[in-house]
Amino acid sequence: MNQRTQRIAVLGAGVMGVAITTLAIANGLPVTLVDVDETKLATAPGRVRKQLRMAALMGSAPKGRVAAIEVTTSVYDLVGVTAVIEAVTELPELKAKVLADVTAVTAPGTPVVTNTSAIPVDELASAVARPADLAGAHFMNPPYLIRTVEVIRGPRTGDAALSKVLDLLAAMDRESIVVADGPGFVINRVLQRMINEAARIVQEGVASPADVDALFRGCLGHRTGPLATADLIGLDNVADSLRVLRDRTGDDGYEPCALLLDKVAAGDHGRKTGRGFYDHGEVHP
Ligand code: NAD
Repeated sequence: MNQRTQRIAVLGAGVMGVAITTLAIANGLPVTLVDVDETKLATAPGRVRKQLRMAALMGSAPKGRVAAIEVTTSVYDLVGVTAVIEAVTELPELKAKVLADVTAVTAPGTPVVTNTSAIPVDELASAVARPADLAGAHFMNPPYLIRTVEVIRGPRTGDAALSKVLDLLAAMDRESIVVADGPGFVINRVLQRMINEAARIVQEGVASPADVDALFRGCLGHRTGPLATADLIGLDNVADSLRVLRDRTGDDGYEPCALLLDKVAAGDHGRKTGRGFYDHGEVHP
């Protein structure tokens, strides 16, 4: 199928849904973006335009024509889409419902990927009409700048769906690394634990956020430290992902620490709200 006959549905117009939309339309793939929050939908085209400018500034924007975006609050507008990328809030019951609804209106054989951070794909597969059509594609933030995607093959993911997902990611100029299923897959099984431990270190007064991150950059050569990464991800999403990991592994090391939970309760969710472990200034939607 060529780019012109494709239409991607992106579910969720938050941090990731908007950034995945930017990546898709920059690569000539039209997107229908779905959210239940009208405000998120109203600001989405502006956020996408800003990210397109950022991608161009960073030399990551493809040269071809940018495709169009449509926004909607209804999954019934998704009839006829050729692929679905789900990026709604990291709550297992919510994702299961949204995926069940979308697979009820899409044609058999339409690949559906979840961008879940930590929920096993096979757990979500139990909620959908056709488990063989479901795979995981864990885009990192921001997907229009990060070229590698962790692709998750669940035990029930079919060969045809996996191959369509890899083709879709290639059409978006992304490199895929396919891994097996499990809570947190590869990246978040390690990363979320590291963020939680870094937050606990700040909570205990061992080091400031700036010093924790400076050690990871200076001594280990990481491009950013765990707490700057947490602010970029969104602390609400970090807490949700940690709970998913704790509940599915029984490992208390994933229990979100008190400092993280206090920041979430105070509305300090990181870059998206202007404050988290760091001050990021005013937020421009
Ligand atoms: P977010 O809170 O910024 O956005 C989530 C969006 O989902 C919100 O706009 C919300 O209104 C919408 N939503 C809720 N219920 C919905 C429904 N029924 N139908 C449609 N939309 C609905 O969260 P995010 O950071 O964009 O995360 C989205 C997903 O991506 C999560 O699973 C998260 O774990 C994963 N993820 C996040 C990052 C990151 O860095 N933030 C990275 C990789 C994966």
